[in-house]
Amino acid sequence: MSETQTGGCQCGAVRYAFNGPVPPAYACHCGECKKQSASAFSMSIPFTYDGLTVTGTPKILETTAHSGKRKYNYFCGKCGTRLWHSGTNPPTAITLKVGTLDHSADITPVGHLWVSKKQTGIMLDPETDQHQTQPDDVVAWRSNLGQ
Ligand SMILES: [Zn+2]
Ligand SMILES: [Zn+2]
Repeated sequence: MSETQTGGCQCGAVRYAFNGPVPPAYACHCGECKKQSASAFSMSIPFTYDGLTVTGTPKILETTAHSGKRKYNYFCGKCGTRLWHSGTNPPTAITLKVGTLDHSADITPVGHLWVSKKQTGIMLDPETDQHQTQPDDVVAWRSNLGQ
């Protein structure tokens, strides 16, 4: 596959590209994801930061993940769009925010976390992998998505 995917923030100050098909995506319905996405849930793709070609410099918000580990949330300092999260700074393994992709309309989440916190009226495909909270080893769960 030699297709190139592109994406970026709302204002265009931070842009990225990567080669190959889009990896499987998942959705999270937790309270933190409602805040960071300013919407009903977040959709993310587990990815490796080294695989991205980035232009522009995102800012970082540090938070504590559900696991208790440090989490670095990368966002555009101009328009505020959340771009990716990582457990490290500089980023290594990341979760890339699906809504930042230029062509994201046909990306279907294959798994759902924190369904117990799901927004009323959001209907999920019963065939997808659903968790009331999240697996103990959420990193392993993410790396096995779609398999
Ligand atoms: Zn921006
Ligand atoms: Zn979440």
